[in-house]
Amino acid sequence: MTADNDKLPRKKGKIDDPVADDLKKDFPQLARKINRKRIVYLDNAATTQKPSCVIEAVKRFYEEHNANVHRGLYSISEESTRAFDEARAIVARFLSAEPDEIIFTKGATEGLNLLSWTVKEIVGKGREKILLTELEHHSNLVPWQELAKREGFKLEFVRIKKDFMLDMDDLKKKLDKKTAIFSFTAVSNAVGTKTDIALLSRLGREVGAITIIDAAQAAPHMKLDVKEIGCDFLTFSGHKMLGPAGVGVLYGKKDLLGKLPPFQFGGHMIRDVDYESATYGDSPEKFEAGTPNMEGVIGLGEAVRYLEAVGLENISSWENSLLRYALKKVCELEEVEVYTSGAENSAGVLSFNMKGVHPHDISSIFNDYNVCVRAGHHCTMPLMKKMGVSGTVRVSFYFYNTIEDVDLFVEALKKAISVFHPGAEEKPLLGGAVVVQEAEADKEAEEESKGDF
Ligand code: PMP
Repeated sequence: MTADNDKLPRKKGKIDDPVADDLKKDFPQLARKINRKRIVYLDNAATTQKPSCVIEAVKRFYEEHNANVHRGLYSISEESTRAFDEARAIVARFLSAEPDEIIFTKGATEGLNLLSWTVKEIVGKGREKILLTELEHHSNLVPWQELAKREGFKLEFVRIKKDFMLDMDDLKKKLDKKTAIFSFTAVSNAVGTKTDIALLSRLGREVGAITIIDAAQAAPHMKLDVKEIGCDFLTFSGHKMLGPAGVGVLYGKKDLLGKLPPFQFGGHMIRDVDYESATYGDSPEKFEAGTPNMEGVIGLGEAVRYLEAVGLENISSWENSLLRYALKKVCELEEVEVYTSGAENSAGVLSFNMKGVHPHDISSIFNDYNVCVRAGHHCTMPLMKKMGVSGTVRVSFYFYNTIEDVDLFVEALKKAISVFHPGAEEKPLLGGAVVVQEAEADKEAEEESKGDF
């Protein structure tokens, strides 16, 4: 069962507007029209569209190779097993890891839950603290709250500054020899801030903490090399990176995975079983009880091949161009408050509010333009509370977005302004009510932020 090389994008090298427009053609749903208008899909942080090669890999699996993996001794079972194992090897290469360091999960949420139920076994003596950041998604917060409750750990949070960047002084104060686990996001799904994952991993390592990276918003957009980063664990979801839903990855350092107990129990993960007891296999089998999401894993392998053909560096760079362009346009609108660390320090996410208007009302106007964005708390309620808002409108880019997509979004935004702030068009556009200016230009805010947010 070989993957379809001619379905991978031929265009390599730098992405520009025509290339992005061309890549769009690989995504059948992006050709859909609603009310005779095309879809402007800008909710990529929630989930991404799927290219034909991924859809076909899943279809081909069901049409030609469907049999349970790692069980049958007949040809189609061997085929499905080969495709499944190949996907693990592809993902391992993608991260510069070894295949047995790759555990397939349901997604980032399950990866973090797996760790929250097992990692206690490898925590050093006398360590009583779980350190997170104020940027975290509920998936990298609530499982740790539960572990803290179960085992009596103390939860602490690295503060963010007004520009949403981590306060490194606060981090250095809180990350100490009492820290058992330091788990942090690589990119904030709510405001787009990138954290320095290699630096944070190094600082965590220096105090002997277990370092865990929530890479749900990073793996789809930037090159991740776990050896260079130096983290202990890293997790992400397939559906946010062109792959099927219900599949994700947990990377763990081999020696640590060897020491972790299993998370779930059942078929496939055992070595030997008696009526009274059982012994367990090695990683990754030990963590993959039951029949896995075979078509999901195979689809994810194909998604990774597609991403590599486009090139992760190209993806980051084009998304940054889109973000810069969008930020410039949006910051000209004085009715709009933008929450950002600035293009330099952000992935392709733009979060904002319109004064006096609920984010849901804005997104429903966007819907008239087929502009798909997310409005709400983005599963980061504590962060929203800290920002003093109930939610935001979030635009999130992927490499298949074009300048025209941004222009259509800005057109929809101007329409929303004219609906909710009638008369606003007559006012000169003096330039942004940007609550958080580009980090590098805002040294003053940095000072003020040491204290209250
Ligand atoms: N972490 C971050 C930063 C996310 O953005 C998300 C998804 N929004 C998750 C974790 C959880 O991902 P999933 O729902 O795919 O498990």
